[in-house]
Amino acid sequence: MSIPIAIIGTGIAGLSAAQALVEAGLDVQLFEKSRGSGGRMASKRSESGSLDLGAQYFTARDRRFAEAVQQWRARGWAAEWTPALYHSREGRLSPSPDEQVRWVGTPRMSSITRALLGALPVQFSCRITEVFRGDQHWHLQDADGNSHGPFSHAIIATPAPQATNLLAAAPKLASVAASVTMEPTWSVALSFAEPLDTPVEGCFVQDSPLDWLARTRSKPGRASSPDSWVLHASSEWSRHNLDLSRERVIEALHGAFAEMIGCAVPPPVESIAHRWLYARPAAAHQWGALSDGDLGLYACGDWCSSGRVEGAWLSGQETAKRLQAHLASHAWT
Ligand code: FAD
Ligand code: NAD
Repeated sequence: MSIPIAIIGTGIAGLSAAQALVEAGLDVQLFEKSRGSGGRMASKRSESGSLDLGAQYFTARDRRFAEAVQQWRARGWAAEWTPALYHSREGRLSPSPDEQVRWVGTPRMSSITRALLGALPVQFSCRITEVFRGDQHWHLQDADGNSHGPFSHAIIATPAPQATNLLAAAPKLASVAASVTMEPTWSVALSFAEPLDTPVEGCFVQDSPLDWLARTRSKPGRASSPDSWVLHASSEWSRHNLDLSRERVIEALHGAFAEMIGCAVPPPVESIAHRWLYARPAAAHQWGALSDGDLGLYACGDWCSSGRVEGAWLSGQETAKRLQAHLASHAWT
């Protein structure tokens, strides 16, 4: 067995890179600080069923990603979501149908990353704090003081602020990652015993603490009862209320929801709040990935690209492509 490639982060970017490298016959070893895979595509199991608290849906505009999504669909990992879409501006709710094809993981968003991870070797609950190069190979240090290695290459597939320290061995890459600002998002799920009396299934919101809401039962494969809604606060509201308690966030977003949805909103039977500190890059970039081929150090993630699921997946592919190209160009030396 060859010396594996270390991949830090099991979001869609890290798993996209892992899948491409494994398909090319290389060995990988993944590390993840959370208890499960998926990152911002993770779903939370609750008394009301699985809830997508992060990414809500994704679009596929790039041909390569569109092909991957078709494969996921054929395997039952993803399906088209066709919600009754609305928008809300200055407190006025209006239908806002469009032709855009939108996809979700089935039966939950995390089904895709779970399936991509498959049986690949991974260590969960393992926060990597340092990535360093010995004479020939890469080694990792985790927050519990354990060392891991050797690895032939290291791929950092975390949000930019968490990548900066891990890229210390390549100061130029570290400074690019440090230049990226990522905005937070407060996400709240509210579950109601009886269905709310509204046709809305998804809504883009302006002029409110909210910027998006979705009705879980309208997504393919989800339970229809209770009637669960996921509400996302805008970046601005989330930034200003970053340290508010979960209870206060639920109260504020429940209030904003009740004000805009145009029907009676009873007290929920379950409410959950989750704070995504690094939810989205403040601006899109066109780096594709960051790399120092001679060192063997790479970084990928949505922040290298469009700040969406598609961009993160493409960034993982780009990383794998660069790594393989570098290996091929040195195969004869
Ligand atoms: P992540 O998913 O963040 O994966 C990084 C992983 O690295 C995480 O699992 C993290 O735990 C792990 N990690 C971090 N540091 C360490 C460390 N030191 N050691 C080990 N592991 C570490 N996109 C869309 O296309 N459509 C949407 O509707 C949409 N809605 C969104 C709503 C919200 C609330 C949020 C937060 C995001 C949304 N996005 C959406 C964006 C989308 O989720 C992301 O672009 C995409 O999932 C990012 O994938 P990634 O692999 O780059 O990063
Ligand atoms: P998309 O094409 O559905 O949406 C892009 C943007 O176009 C929307 O944000 C919305 O402003 C507008 N829009 C699209 N359809 C509309 C309609 N029918 N009526 C009114 N406005 C409409 O999807 P995409 O380009 O794949 O973007 C993904 C979505 O993920 C975006 O909505 C983005 O805001 C969201 N996102 C959220 C976070 C977060 O942290 N909350 C992070 C990343 C992405």
